[in-house]
Amino acid sequence: MKRYEYHRPRSLEEALRLKGADPGACYVAGATDVMVRVRAGDLAPTALISLRGVPELRGIDFGDVGRGARLGAATTIGEIAAHPGLREAYPVLAQAAAVLGSVQIRNAATVGGNLCNASPCADTAPALLVLGARLRLQRPGGHREVPLEEFFRGPGETCLARDEVVTQVLLDPPAAGARSAYRKQGRVHMDLAQASLAVLVELDGATCRRALLAAGSVAPVPLRLKPVEALLAGTRLDEGVLAEAGALAARTVAPITDVRATADYRRAIVGVFLRRMLADLRDGGARPARRPA
Ligand SMILES: Cc1cc2nc3c(=O)[nH]c(=O)nc-3n(C[C@H](O)[C@H](O)[C@H](O)COP(=O)(O)OP(=O)(O)OC[C@H]3O[C@@H](n4cnc5c(N)ncnc54)[C@H](O)[C@@H]3O)c2cc1C
Repeated sequence: MKRYEYHRPRSLEEALRLKGADPGACYVAGATDVMVRVRAGDLAPTALISLRGVPELRGIDFGDVGRGARLGAATTIGEIAAHPGLREAYPVLAQAAAVLGSVQIRNAATVGGNLCNASPCADTAPALLVLGARLRLQRPGGHREVPLEEFFRGPGETCLARDEVVTQVLLDPPAAGARSAYRKQGRVHMDLAQASLAVLVELDGATCRRALLAAGSVAPVPLRLKPVEALLAGTRLDEGVLAEAGALAARTVAPITDVRATADYRRAIVGVFLRRMLADLRDGGARPARRPA
């Protein structure tokens, strides 16, 4: 393995300065993706710049539901899964965090790393897409906000410029009557998703005022299922509509066949998950995000 420098900046400004001085350097947060790639020889940075000690990237700001939430990009997945306020206000996110990897991975892995790695199977991505998350990106001398939906460009590719770092994930307050859930299918316990689905519905009794749906591992990027959202808006969630929505979801995704699953299996999972999750949310409950092994 190639040798490289390791920096531990103590401020955002220092982190940005270190990166500006060494274009071959790579940010690292929990290192659960970076070190796998370094060890495999896919990534050979001149230096690693750790974001773990940067205070501007730490912490969950969630005072009350009405204000929404700000998650520091270096917040660990375990912190998100365990946060009582987030679990209540944004169940879809807490459920996605709870099924990401193992306890050890969740204790190191961060939400910023999960998004910046830009894998189509990233568990927090579909959940944050249905929550309408925005990312705050900082560069030397300025910042911008981008909707998460515009962040992903392809497998491993984002709109992040070379001199930018993600500092925060921003969430609006949950809408009145919103119910949400996340489900994931893997080959074995603690696996990357063969397919995953995040569902958020705003309900008036059994009528769906608005639906937001996003799937993982079924396209080059985590994918909003907009045709299905349009079908469900203003519709009573009876069994016929659920079946139609499931069939349309299976047709809307664009999966590939690889070592984890065939494209047909992935389509089938999305359709079945959607039907079951809509019924569960309509009836006021939600199944576990993943079947126990
Ligand atoms: C055994 C194992 C199991 C796993 N299981 C799952 C799983 O079930 N589901 C899943 O989604 N993932 C899984 N992963 C992948 C990984 O754990 C997650 O993607 C994790 O969230 C990455 O976060 P990290 O902080 O470790 O990222 P890092 O490895 O530190 O960084 C990942 C990438 O993001 C960049 N980066 C990190 N933070 C920032 C920032 N704030 N601004 C700009 N760039 C940044 C880094 O430069 C790097 O390119 C697994 C990994 C392993 C090793």
